[in-house]
This record gives sequence, C-alpha cells and structure tokens, in this order.
Amino acid sequence: MAKQIFAKHILLAEGWAENVLLTIDDLGYITAIEEKSTIRNDFKGELIANSIIPGMVNNHSHAFQWAMAGLAEQSGKGSDSFWSWRKIMYDFVSKITPDDLEIIATALYMQMLKAGYTSVGEFHYLHHDANGEHFSNQAEMSQRIFEAAKNSGINLTLLPVFYRYSGFGEQPPSDEQKRFIHTQGEYAQLLDVISKLAGDYQQNFGIAPHSLRAVNYSDIEFAINHLDKLTGQSSIQAPVHIHIAEQLKEVNDCLAHYGDRPVNWLSENFELNSRWCLVHATHMNDSEVKKVAKSKAVTSICTTTEANLGDGFFAMPDYKAHSGVWGIGSDSHISVNATEELRWLEYQNRLISNSRTVFTDGDNSSNGYWLWRNAARGGSQSLGGRSGEIAINKKADFLVLNNKDITLAGKTGNQLVDAYIFNQQLSEPLVSVWVSGNKLVEKSQHANQDLITKNYQRVIQKLLN
Ligand SMILES: [Zn+2]
Repeated sequence: MAKQIFAKHILLAEGWAENVLLTIDDLGYITAIEEKSTIRNDFKGELIANSIIPGMVNNHSHAFQWAMAGLAEQSGKGSDSFWSWRKIMYDFVSKITPDDLEIIATALYMQMLKAGYTSVGEFHYLHHDANGEHFSNQAEMSQRIFEAAKNSGINLTLLPVFYRYSGFGEQPPSDEQKRFIHTQGEYAQLLDVISKLAGDYQQNFGIAPHSLRAVNYSDIEFAINHLDKLTGQSSIQAPVHIHIAEQLKEVNDCLAHYGDRPVNWLSENFELNSRWCLVHATHMNDSEVKKVAKSKAVTSICTTTEANLGDGFFAMPDYKAHSGVWGIGSDSHISVNATEELRWLEYQNRLISNSRTVFTDGDNSSNGYWLWRNAARGGSQSLGGRSGEIAINKKADFLVLNNKDITLAGKTGNQLVDAYIFNQQLSEPLVSVWVSGNKLVEKSQHANQDLITKNYQRVIQKLLN
C-alpha cells in the first residue's frame, strides 16, 4: 500500500521546499511530490518536522575488509606501502566463511546507514571457499551479500568482480588469490545466478572487471557483452566498475606492458560513458582527466582509504573544471562516515591550494551543498540511478537532521548541510535514516542493532584468535 510522508522542510532535487507531501509506492519509489501542501484531516502518514536531506550513496565497498580495519597500522620492516597492506588483507581473506561474510557485511551496512549512507555498491571478489573450490551454489558468497542488504535494509548494487590474473601480461594468479578467480565461462554462470538473485531480492547488479592487471581486453569485453545480454540494456541501469589507477606501480606496470597509462588505455579501447565507474582514478594526467570528465563516466573517490594507503591525490579541481561526475566510497572501511569522506576531499584541496571553499557552484554559494548534492547524484548514477536525490521515480532514501543538535542549532537551508559536514563534534546530528520510505535508524540506533552487533562481536573474536 502506498504511504505518505509530510515534510516540513526538505531538500528536493531543485532546492529546499516547505510543507511537502511525498507519496511512496510499495517498492519504495516516490510517485508524487506536492509542494506547499497542507495536512488533511484524514492524513495517516508520517509527519516529519525536522529538515530532510537525500541519503548519501557509497559507491565502492569491499565489505569483508572492514573486519581488518585497524589491524594494519603497525609498521613492518623497511618502508610500508599499499602492497604490505594487501599482504595482511590476503592473510585475513583466507579465514572468512559464508556465515562470517554475511555477519560482517550486515554489521557494516548497519554502520553505513547510521553514518548517512542509504545505498552501497559492493565490489565483491571473495567468491570461492578457502581452498579456492567453488561452492555448490556458485553464487553462495554473493547471496550472502544480498542477505546482508536485506538484514540491514540498505539499497544494494552488487558488482561481482571478474579476476583472472595476478599482473599485466596474464601472469597466473597467486595462491592467495585463489578465492577470487574465474574463467570467462564460470564468470558468465555466476552472472546468470546473480541476475536472478537481484530480481528476487529487488536489488540491482552490474559487473566489476577487477583492474587492468587482473583481466585483459577480451575479459572486459566478454563481461560487458554478457551483462548486456542478461539485462537487455547497456545503460546506467547495468553499471561497469573497475579499479583503474590507484597506485603508481600500477601505472608503471601498465606503461611497461601496454605502452600506455591505465585510464588512457581504457578510454582508447572501450567507449567510456555514463554506465562506467572508474574507482581510484588517482593517477591521471591532464588529458586523461579531460577524457574521463567528457565521457560522463563516474569516478569513485575513496578519500579516507586512499589516505590510509598513501595512494595520492585525485585531481579534483581540474576534474570539476571539466564538469566531471563523481561519487564517494568507503572502500576498505577504515572510516565509514559520509561527512568525513566529503570534508577531507575538500580539506585536502584547501591544504594544497592555500585557499578556502574550493568546491562550490561559484561566488556566494554553499560548499557543503555542492559536495553533498554532487556526490549523491554521481554515486547514484554509478549504481543504477535509483536514488541520490528526492525526486519522482527515485527511492525515498533520506536523512532527517536534528535541527536542535548542538552542531545544527539555528542554521537554515544550505547552512544545515555545511554544518552537517564541517561542524564535527561528538553529537547526534541525525534524528533518523530512511530507505525506501522505511525508517531504519532512529537516534543512532538501528532497529536490529543488538543482534547485529552481538553476531559481529562473535565473528571478529573468532577471526582474530
Ligand atoms: Zn577497491
């Protein structure tokens, strides 16, 4: 049955509005928006007096990596790098069972909801058992991710990873990578099952060729063709995500093998367009920045993970100057906090440029509003376009701000978004978090928080012993 929400103060796609009546269908999509409305006598819906903003989209997640957050912060021998972190990650990977994955992902998605994320793109590569054997249900681990989304209530776009090689030039996978690997035929079978699961769970899916070092041209082409066959469309509803240029070593290896830089090679060999998401397009030269921005592909910027791993700076000022589309991801989940990802994206650039309010719509405009609006819209584009703004035919995914919170009191309009992002205190700026028109989090508590937390504590104890 359709439900209604009466919002006193809400950030719609066109800007702030007052006294707005939202009608939401059974699947959680907004079907009508009536501005300057009044509450009728027979109104049976929910009245929300506090200010409402669209939920944030987290377009890059590796759920299981959260279980090792904080474990890779001790120095090893000599200089430490992404590649030493990856070694610890591989050790951890070998232990995770399907039950563990479901419990970790459920707890992670609960944390995301509490932190303002209402959708997640799961770049999922842990497919097989600890020996590298396929489970009898080939999509066992994928199904656990769908279950985690159901348990937590978050919107999911599953991006099953296609991984074949350990390095450029089709180097055989290492023993540590055996849980990730598929042939083309096996990957097609996996996609067939996931396509059905996505329908059953009313979620979305796409593909994720892991990186140019892990698959070749024919693999990427094969995966895209199979996705198109399954979905009958080559649009943003069937997204294609890839890790592209996170580390300088990757750029140098790509130059050595293909004689070209990763982003440029990809754009020369495939038609980049709005269905693509380039994750960690960290190392781009000027011409690559222009090409990606012009293509309307989304870039996924994972500020806190990229900082934690020492990746480098994304060329945000140039990318913005060419009207590039972008979103944010929490990736390894060293931080699960939408405002922190955006604040540090801005702060990096303030520190580099010795200036303030770097990313805005121009003179006298709001920094926080620009960051929130563009990250939510770009993130949504990269996950199938179901959310990212409060508008007709989008999911009713939103955050209710606590206007009386110590950080937000007295603010109005875009000042609220600025203060939500930049005024960081130990406080509770969110009253509630809603997905598909359902309230999932209230006063920082998820509806199933106790059980989800208890299960997670048990699994993490087991994994660390
Ligand atoms: Zn990643």
